[in-house]
Amino acid sequence: MPLIILTGLPTSGKSTRAKQLHDYLTARIAGTKYRLHLVSDDSLSISRTVYDLSTVPVHARSANASEKNARAAIYGAVKRVLSDKDIVILDGLNYIKGWRYQLHCEAKAVRTPSCILQIGCSKERAQQVNEERLRRDEAAVQQEGSDVPSDSPSDAPSDTTEAYAPANWENLVFRHEEPNPMTRWDSPLFTVIWDDDEEQVKRTFDSLWEAIAGEGRKVIKPNQ
Ligand code: ADP
Repeated sequence: MPLIILTGLPTSGKSTRAKQLHDYLTARIAGTKYRLHLVSDDSLSISRTVYDLSTVPVHARSANASEKNARAAIYGAVKRVLSDKDIVILDGLNYIKGWRYQLHCEAKAVRTPSCILQIGCSKERAQQVNEERLRRDEAAVQQEGSDVPSDSPSDAPSDTTEAYAPANWENLVFRHEEPNPMTRWDSPLFTVIWDDDEEQVKRTFDSLWEAIAGEGRKVIKPNQ
């Protein structure tokens, strides 16, 4: 069963949509032999700092070891579970086209389809989310340093996801390689945008399901 690769700018709402897709597919596969997995940086405890090139010398950037190690961990986690009975949602930046190609080939090797779910969001909107997270972290540091303890659970932030350092965030946006549905590895391509309401998201998930698991789905042959 398919490998669903999310892609989008940092803090564009990928994990939110990945969870919605997970809920949608959980309902769809209930009572079938299929299993569902959600693999992400968070599920593998990969820090946002691994993508940070600001501390890496310019000549060594293409070999950024921490990001390479993170990709190896993600690749291993996907490979371990991907099969014709397992659906894998890969929530992450997945911003390098060569990396998406590699994942596509991995899926093909186990004769299962892959597809891309692109999370569309303006740069400004995504940046606002990261800045809110940075402000939240700053407030937490100040709170820790102050004499007034805050034990009230209502003061605890509801969003606890790690923020990107501003230079890391900017650089990831710069490095982002948009999916191209004309290529084998970026297709089929489905897109959900920030403003899509529940109904629109469901329609997109319905078409995604139809393409990867419906009656008309493409059968993967080893030599394709
Ligand atoms: P990413 O996984 O790309 O870093 P998240 O899914 O963690 O992004 O979303 C970042 C923040 O934006 C979260 O606080 C989330 O609740 C909010 N968010 C995400 N998508 C939407 C949306 N479509 N509409 C409103 N808020 C959203």
